Amino acid sequence: WSNDALSVVVVGASGDLAKKKIYPALFALYVEGHLPEYFSIFGYARSKMSDEEFREYIGGSLTCRLSDGENCGDKFDKFLERCFYQPGQYASEDDFKTLSGRLTEVEKEREKAHRVFYLSIPPSIFTAVAGCASTAASSPSGWTRVIVEKPFGKDSESFAQLEKELSNFLTEDQMYRIDHYLGKELIENLTVLRFANLVFEPLWSRQYIRNVQVIFSEDFGTEGRGGYFDQYGIIRDVIQNHLLQIVALFAMEAPVSLAAEHIRNEKVKVLRSMKKLSLDDVVIGQYRGRSGGGVEKPGYLDDDTVPEGSLCPTFASVAVFINNARWAGVPFLLKAGKALASRRAEIRVQFHQVPGGLYQDKLGHDPDRSSNELVMRIQPDEAIYLKIINKVPGLGLNLDVTKLDLTYKQRYNVHLPDAYERLILDVIHGDKRLFIRNDELDAAWALFTPILKEIEEKKIQPETYPYGSRGPIGSHYLAAKYGVRWGDILSAED
Ligand code: NAP
Repeated sequence: WSNDALSVVVVGASGDLAKKKIYPALFALYVEGHLPEYFSIFGYARSKMSDEEFREYIGGSLTCRLSDGENCGDKFDKFLERCFYQPGQYASEDDFKTLSGRLTEVEKEREKAHRVFYLSIPPSIFTAVAGCASTAASSPSGWTRVIVEKPFGKDSESFAQLEKELSNFLTEDQMYRIDHYLGKELIENLTVLRFANLVFEPLWSRQYIRNVQVIFSEDFGTEGRGGYFDQYGIIRDVIQNHLLQIVALFAMEAPVSLAAEHIRNEKVKVLRSMKKLSLDDVVIGQYRGRSGGGVEKPGYLDDDTVPEGSLCPTFASVAVFINNARWAGVPFLLKAGKALASRRAEIRVQFHQVPGGLYQDKLGHDPDRSSNELVMRIQPDEAIYLKIINKVPGLGLNLDVTKLDLTYKQRYNVHLPDAYERLILDVIHGDKRLFIRNDELDAAWALFTPILKEIEEKKIQPETYPYGSRGPIGSHYLAAKYGVRWGDILSAED
């Protein structure tokens, strides 16, 4: 197919995601030689722009990352030459026909042309766009694929409705539901770590693992963009999708092969084996402002775009359990929050203490200070490290906990591609391993919908926590209920 034409249409071309992530990713793919010779990028949105203005608009967001100091100048101009803009309404078949005409004009250099539509638009117009794109702008000679961004509904019912509507226009094969967490380097490495190393997989079960923590924290609040967030809240925005997907990959059985369907078959089994969530296993929080010591930080409710008195959680921690032979009884603790002390995303695997207690008098009884922990830091500063008990060198027998440390920037002198680069390239190659299948989302919503409804119907008050703190106290009690202490707090120096 590399001799065919390829057009990528960014629908919602004037938006934030397109500018921040999609154009830079497409440019990086071009610079690194991953786009076919006859490619074109089309921006589509209601805003009026000429091709020239569009080129200027996206030009500002492109950076050259060639490591050997080579000048990108030439590539920069050549890339922009292949960028075009078509203004139009999202629900107008006529406007999409005009777009298709322009695509054909550019694609006519080749006999076969493939089209990718990236729906970088609010969910309220997903269906209208999918309908118009499919009816009026599908490729007449090659494949047509559509990338859909989250949110995939707000609950089981709205997800089912969205799927029903989209399926009127698109086959499952054409649909690429993106979860950019799955495109992150460390997450792609998770299956390699487990299944290509003899030392980890035998330990990957309730027999050796005490608990697993998946933690996502941001050190900033909604900062004027709370309007969108308030309709969803942190459970829908982060936990039900990104963190749950990580758990599914972490906990799945070995797939038959690396084929997308085999991997997704295993993930969906994990999601379907999860114990029904109870409100006792969920803590929600909302940050409040902090001032003093020269710091002025606004609270969530101070954001002008947030409705007065909103109960929307900006923090949540949830204990989930997988009812299968491998994981029964092991708490998977998921935590996500805005306006916390640090920005990080990581998986922490805490192992049991060594039985027999040969060194117990040296190590004490606290399992958090005397057992192994494997940490996969997804961002920032990607790393995998294993905490081991080690003898402090010298006379006498002193033990301490130290790290076998694989910090990526020390080990690999390469630029790590952005998740969007990897995922867009996968769409071009038709590789669905890192995209979410509809039954996975169905299972994820089946787990979270009842608890979200209960929180909303009972108008549960979120516990407040100060901007820049470690979250609400209730989160520590939730972990303590299962004999766990949050690893990111124990090891703040990591
Ligand atoms: P956005 O900036 O709010 O919207 C993208 C474009 O859609 C806008 O430039 C606008 O273009 C058009 N638009 C906005 N509101 C509209 C409305 N009510 N009716 C019709 N058109 C409207 O959105 P975004 O932040 O780029 O995000 C795009 C999609 O990606 C969303 O589904 C979002 O949930 C998802 N997402 C975003 C991020 C992120 O970091 N931003 C991260 C993950 C997922 P015109 O007015 O020119 O037509």
